[in-house]
Amino acid sequence: MSQHKNLFVPSFKTDQEEEDVERKTTGNGGGIGGDVWKFKGNKAAKGAANVSMKGTLTRLFDCCSKDVNKTILPLGHGDPSVYRCFQTSVDAEDAVVESLRSGAANSYAPGVGILPARRAVANYLNRDLPHKMKSDDIFITVGCCQGIETMIHALARPKANIVLPTLIYPLYHSHAIHSLVEIRKYNLLPDLDWEIDLQGVEAIADENTIALVIINPHNPCGNVYTYEHLKKVAEMARKLGIMVISDEVYNKTIYGENKFVPMGIFSSIAPVVTLGSISKGWFVPGWRIGWIAMNDPDNVFKTTGVVESIKEHLDISPDPSTILQFALPNILEKTKKDFFDKSNLILSQNVDLAFDALKDIPCLTCPKKPESCTYLVTKLDISLLEDITDDFDFCMKLAREQNLVLLPGEVLGLKNWVRFSIGVERSMLEDAFVRLKGFYARHVKTQLT
Ligand SMILES: *Cc1c(COP(=O)(O)O)cnc(C)c1O
Repeated sequence: MSQHKNLFVPSFKTDQEEEDVERKTTGNGGGIGGDVWKFKGNKAAKGAANVSMKGTLTRLFDCCSKDVNKTILPLGHGDPSVYRCFQTSVDAEDAVVESLRSGAANSYAPGVGILPARRAVANYLNRDLPHKMKSDDIFITVGCCQGIETMIHALARPKANIVLPTLIYPLYHSHAIHSLVEIRKYNLLPDLDWEIDLQGVEAIADENTIALVIINPHNPCGNVYTYEHLKKVAEMARKLGIMVISDEVYNKTIYGENKFVPMGIFSSIAPVVTLGSISKGWFVPGWRIGWIAMNDPDNVFKTTGVVESIKEHLDISPDPSTILQFALPNILEKTKKDFFDKSNLILSQNVDLAFDALKDIPCLTCPKKPESCTYLVTKLDISLLEDITDDFDFCMKLAREQNLVLLPGEVLGLKNWVRFSIGVERSMLEDAFVRLKGFYARHVKTQLT
């Protein structure tokens, strides 16, 4: 397991967790509590904390055991950067080394980000946009995560609601809850290439809707929205008078037929905020650098005070390291197309492998072959299985019998679906499907009625 040391694997507990266990067993620490000290932890983030995915993975890893005599295959969560085949580009590494060595990146940066970084992101995004952005339209953030946090904080107001897809990166939920913004959910349609249920959005948006959030390319469904579909999204947003926040963090991870179309193309129809980062495309989520981009040719964000509010929020938040900001222009400009082609080829081969292998496991079907991102979501048909009650049960038994960890869709709001991470070494996927086949054979109903 040493190659997985950076993964979230529950056997790597924090010091605190180990101390807690010790205290419980030895009985020390009694009496030091609420009676003496006048302070206590703020509970506001409690409901917002993203505990369900981690909690579920912890339980699944706990089911794995040495007795199974197989390595643990952690396909429940995704961080491809731990695998050799997804090492980042040398050009990006050189950019960071150069930035560090230059001595020019040791100072504080302005809250909005340093000018060369803002300009580089504008140039990078403008390649595909009709309405060119200026460096002033870009804010540099601590990964895409801070972009999410900043936008929700900047827009929150009493009675506000935000329209999110049912399948969403959990941080949107967390920050909406933390900012007391009501969450309204629209469906994605698995049988229509996971398109957005536009009528559903219209039905739930109202005068208190602060934004419609879309994820494109979509994590975890792996689809890429077409030009026509996105245009409809923009037209609907205009009709409803709401902005579109487009999370395009996976815009470099494209390996299918649909070409990636940035939502910013439609910014003359409705204003668009694009969120992005280098975390996924360059396989460096630990570098923590991303951006918020305002695609707003009509200056709606200025006149409505949104730009001001974003700046104020960034002024009171920690900034991404100046070293990374200073390196960003070279990372964006010097990384060669070959690098992306290579990692996308590996991912598409992994998808092909998984898609083929699923044919031998009839209880799992995938409605649409992923053409982006690093996951495969499959629908679980429990009627074919003897003694499995739902996706959670399926994943628990799989972990227990095969040391294979997959994520039950329930955690993502998809009851009786199962999510695979395909951003792993090919040999791990091959092994996973051999184990799944064995598992299926063991649990399939012998007499189908
Ligand atoms: C990973 C991810 C993020 C967060 O990106 P970071 O740059 O790591 O902060 C945001 N949105 C989606 C859809 C993601 O998959």
